Amino acid sequence: MNYKAKPTNLPPKKNLNWQKLGFDYKKCDYRFQARWKNGQWDDGQICTDEFINLHEGSTAIHYAQQCFEGLKAKTAKDGRILLFRPSLNWERMKTTAKRLMMPAPSKELFFKGLHETVLRNYDLLPPFGHGASLYLRPLLIGVGSNLGIRKAPEYIFRIFASPVGPYYKKGQVIPITLKISDNDRVAPSGIGAYKAGANYIAGLQEQYQIKKNNADDVLFLDPLHHKYLEEAGAANIIVYFKNNTIATPKASTILPSITRKSAMTIASDMLNIKTEVRQIDFYQELPNILELANCGTAAVVSPIGRIIDVDGKHYDFHHQDQSKDSIMIKLGEILNNIQLGIIEDSYDWNYQIYP
Ligand SMILES: *Cc1c(COP(=O)(O)O)cnc(C)c1O
Repeated sequence: MNYKAKPTNLPPKKNLNWQKLGFDYKKCDYRFQARWKNGQWDDGQICTDEFINLHEGSTAIHYAQQCFEGLKAKTAKDGRILLFRPSLNWERMKTTAKRLMMPAPSKELFFKGLHETVLRNYDLLPPFGHGASLYLRPLLIGVGSNLGIRKAPEYIFRIFASPVGPYYKKGQVIPITLKISDNDRVAPSGIGAYKAGANYIAGLQEQYQIKKNNADDVLFLDPLHHKYLEEAGAANIIVYFKNNTIATPKASTILPSITRKSAMTIASDMLNIKTEVRQIDFYQELPNILELANCGTAAVVSPIGRIIDVDGKHYDFHHQDQSKDSIMIKLGEILNNIQLGIIEDSYDWNYQIYP
């Protein structure tokens, strides 16, 4: 993809406390929006209104005919603006759209939206060195007059941006706590493998219940047996075992994380760790687990220090007190350093938005 946004004069940076950013919506001046109507997408354009005018019968708000993506624009050490493997976000949106019977934006349209959204909001793109980034949220929603259960007559593709800091308040070095969910979020042949908002509403109650346990995120086990690891609220799980192997759960109910895929490649190529994708029976394999981490665009690689079971019993892991030589922290650092152009991007994962 070699889409290039028209050269614009980049505005000066806003005077923000970049260091203090959390993972919250902060309004940017510009967003990109395209509409699908009469069988085709228009060219899309930048707009300033953060509100979307929707027909009250829109399938997105009745039948959850909607999906989204999430990626970050970062300022590299040398000033370049980089995205991490955005083609995979486009491909995933295409796959999800197909499952939810929506027309996906073309690759050209998707990338045009990314370029324009990032460059127009340059004033709120965090500079290098604050651990912050410009989070990009592409979304695809079914809109237009409708009542019964059917595909929408029209669709909106929008990308908005928000400057963000770490997803978990503890940041990336203090291990997080997960609470095993009482409820299921996905069904064995449902839509867990697709980035649909419907998967999140099914787990929303859990996100509040974990607070009673002072946990940072929820951990879902498989919906059939409740013993195989699946994933956290908005992140995949990777597990490091005593035999120098990293495994990630194999299931049709898990969202294929780009961060996890990349972390597994780094583990195998750069850290000489054997990697596997397989079922992980949490209770049976517990004695062999040394470390675990959450992986996702928002979470990056966040080590897990404690898992609280449904009955309140808890299990602690290696880096709870020895974070210095943690494999997960090492993985997170390498990934972060590739994304910031600090170490060589030998996989060609970074996509340059600017210059
Ligand atoms: C987006 C998402 C992830 C993380 O995927 P990345 O591509 O690494 O950002 C993990 N789990 C769920 C449920 C998600 O929606």
